[in-house]
Amino acid sequence: MEVFKFGGASVKDANGVRNLVSTLHKLDKKEVLIVISAMGKMTNAFEDLVNAYFLKTDKLQQVFGAIKSFHFDIIDRLDFKENDFVAEQVEAVFFEITQFFNQNQETDYDYIYDQVVSRAEFLSTRICSAYLNDVGLINTWLDVRECIKTNSDFRRAKVNWDKTSEGILKHVDTSSITITQGFIGKDNKGRTTTLGREGSDYTAGIFAFCLDAKEVSIFKDVQGVLNADPREFEQTTLIEEISYREAIEMAFYGASVIHPKTLQPLQRKGIPLRVRSFLAPEKKGTYVGSELDIVPEIPCFIVKKNQILISVADKEFHFVMEQDISEIFKLLHEFKVKANMIQNSAISFSLCIEDNFNNFKELMAKLKPKYKVKYNENVSLYTIRHFNEEVVSTIEDSKEVLLKQRSRETVQLIVKG
Ligand code: ASP
Ligand code: MG
Repeated sequence: MEVFKFGGASVKDANGVRNLVSTLHKLDKKEVLIVISAMGKMTNAFEDLVNAYFLKTDKLQQVFGAIKSFHFDIIDRLDFKENDFVAEQVEAVFFEITQFFNQNQETDYDYIYDQVVSRAEFLSTRICSAYLNDVGLINTWLDVRECIKTNSDFRRAKVNWDKTSEGILKHVDTSSITITQGFIGKDNKGRTTTLGREGSDYTAGIFAFCLDAKEVSIFKDVQGVLNADPREFEQTTLIEEISYREAIEMAFYGASVIHPKTLQPLQRKGIPLRVRSFLAPEKKGTYVGSELDIVPEIPCFIVKKNQILISVADKEFHFVMEQDISEIFKLLHEFKVKANMIQNSAISFSLCIEDNFNNFKELMAKLKPKYKVKYNENVSLYTIRHFNEEVVSTIEDSKEVLLKQRSRETVQLIVKG
């Protein structure tokens, strides 16, 4: 059997749901578990709903109403032959949300978030599953919480693999079509948990691992994994084949290809992953597997913007020693500042950092009394995997390079702007 995952962009409207049907017809798969995430940008809308509820703002009814009409509009446009059933199921989800709002006594934001935001995936899978059945693609809707068992770390729950595997083997019929939700699970008290934003790919990986799937396909609005972000580069090339390891390396440098968390279970069992387009599902896309050379072997670019380059030197021009470095890193950890590149020379230590939590000023305040600190804000970190001299010089000729580092497979450049 195989596992398919369709993201929010693929089911953002009625045509997306119809496209799901034609994709399944084209690929003619009868033994498949399909993970579908919330429709379009609904997870964001549900986050607004949680905030309105939590902060008791007067927007609650408005956001609730918008979410409701979004889904019922899609149902209307799908022209169900029998739509009483789906309307009832969708209405039931909204009823559960209202009931939760009325009865909830808990004040933990993360707990509330998981109980509410998870409903977006139920709405989506209810509509898709009902539509497939309506047009004759008979499938079973599965409540994923029967399968994915987690701890109670709301919004970043960890999977209990033994219990999850048990649940999956018990509830999934691998000889037919199953539709289920991504990104959610259940703790041992029966409370809904989530695995973190964008967690649906991971859900697909978990099912594939436990079911020994033949292959996993993630359907996206791009042709597959590209060698550069098309928003940054005019010309991009589709990577046809890539190893798990290379994909993990690229993610480490900041490529938003496939999350390592999704890859790890697949890598452990050697289950191949395909990243393919939901607009052209017959195309091969990108094939991720073990021990593959990257095909075609071309340079891959990963750009991280909004970085800060800091150089730290001793006030008396002494060497920057191990003790200093350990102190600097302790501070980075304390202020949740991420170091994306480091370079040491005799009298200074350079770091390219990312200040995701707005702590840079405080960090500086701790460093400055002891060290001579210089920094450049608003720099970009270019990482080029499988580089050649030509592409490196193209960047060097067009940008002001502040720092460069190279190893056998990778060049990193910190440039202004
Ligand atoms: N719907 C969730 C999100 O948007 C999970 C996912 O799509 O992977 O983060
Ligand atoms: Mg989503």
